[in-house]
Amino acid sequence: MNCDRCGGEAVITVRYSGAHLCAPHFSSFVEKRVKREIRRQLRLTGNTRIACSLSGGKDSSVATRLMHDVLGKRRDVELVAVTVDEGIAGYRPSSISFAERMCRELGLEHRIITYKELVGWEMDDVVQADPETIPCSYCGVFRRKALNTLARLVEADYLSTGLNLDDTVQSFLMNLGRADVDRLARMGPHESVQPGLVPRVQPLRTVPEKEVYLYALLNGIPFDDGTCPYAERAMRTKYREVLYTLEHASPGTRHAMLSTYDSLKPSLLDQHPPAKLSECERCGEPTRSEFCQSCKLIEQLETPAPRPS
Ligand code: SF4
Ligand code: ZN
Repeated sequence: MNCDRCGGEAVITVRYSGAHLCAPHFSSFVEKRVKREIRRQLRLTGNTRIACSLSGGKDSSVATRLMHDVLGKRRDVELVAVTVDEGIAGYRPSSISFAERMCRELGLEHRIITYKELVGWEMDDVVQADPETIPCSYCGVFRRKALNTLARLVEADYLSTGLNLDDTVQSFLMNLGRADVDRLARMGPHESVQPGLVPRVQPLRTVPEKEVYLYALLNGIPFDDGTCPYAERAMRTKYREVLYTLEHASPGTRHAMLSTYDSLKPSLLDQHPPAKLSECERCGEPTRSEFCQSCKLIEQLETPAPRPS
């Protein structure tokens, strides 16, 4: 199979467009979309500090590398990598060493925060204390808090994440499935700034997961290919399967869903404007109620279950 653009050997058939692309043309196809998203999502006025969320997995490694390639030479932009250590043995330590390696290679400042120092619990201990739980329902809440805390700590104006097209559309469907319209309206990228919350940018939001993976391989981007031992139990896994089936039967479905979300977002924000935030009475993080979601979960974990009478 030959590349449609140069006749060289194709490395991929992009099913949703029908294009056959060689390695260089595939890479520029990815980079073009990422550059467009970076231009669209960032307001670069004056000196801007951007925290790049970097776990060491493929998505965040590709996102960090592309942010560095696109913005690294600008004098008015400073990038710093931030990593969250959830405390998952046999999974996170190895990916952190990939993140450290990338930061050394790119000359990026690197900050790490652990759940242990943030909320006093490692994920492995949470799972032991609450074995029936879906671990991601704790982990997702803690991660949001960890990234926001870290981004504020490094005085970032933006927090860039590695969310790809599949992740974004899965979140769209999951919020639909839970009828969580508020959260649907609050999905990133964020155009307005709320006090205490660092707005998120998502450079890979139009790039499918498989293309992120191929881009990393073709461009020699080191990443950890491990899978979280708790991922199996995640609701997201079920949405991933559904989406995979739909995309396979009708290529282009994910892009259509993303563009549906983008068209709906202004009306969603009109109907569900961001709530006024106050500071959590326990930890000071921005919250819509007395305590933030993370502190509520910790309270739950630390309250002994009532004994049967
Ligand atoms: Fe956390 Fe779930 Fe992701 Fe594992 S799969 S790192 S538990 S959110
Ligand atoms: Zn709190």
